[in-house]
Amino acid sequence: MKDKAAQLTASRKQLLQQMPDLSTVLPGSLLSRMVRCNKPGCRFCEKGKGKGHGPIWILSVSLGNRQVRQIPVPSEMKKEVEESLSLRAFAQLQNVLKQIAQVNLELFKERKRQRP
Ligand SMILES: [Zn+2]
Repeated sequence: MKDKAAQLTASRKQLLQQMPDLSTVLPGSLLSRMVRCNKPGCRFCEKGKGKGHGPIWILSVSLGNRQVRQIPVPSEMKKEVEESLSLRAFAQLQNVLKQIAQVNLELFKERKRQRP
């Protein structure tokens, strides 16, 4: 059987390979909404019929303490925000970090046990 420390080191290496591209990390989630211009006679905003204009895209970022900042995303930048997986990368990063920390904890215990 392989040395336990070597196994742990190998799984840590695997976890590191799952790390997302850190250069694109963005927090939050992407929302869309329709907006009303309130101009009289606008066929898009007609009461009961029109759906409004849009959708417009919003990056919704949690600041903690139940505060949320909503940052409008220009339509030509929407693809970039979405496609880079930058939003998911943030969650994925936290997940992988937790797992690596757990492996390192095991590794620490193993090293301690193997002391001469
Ligand atoms: Zn309108």
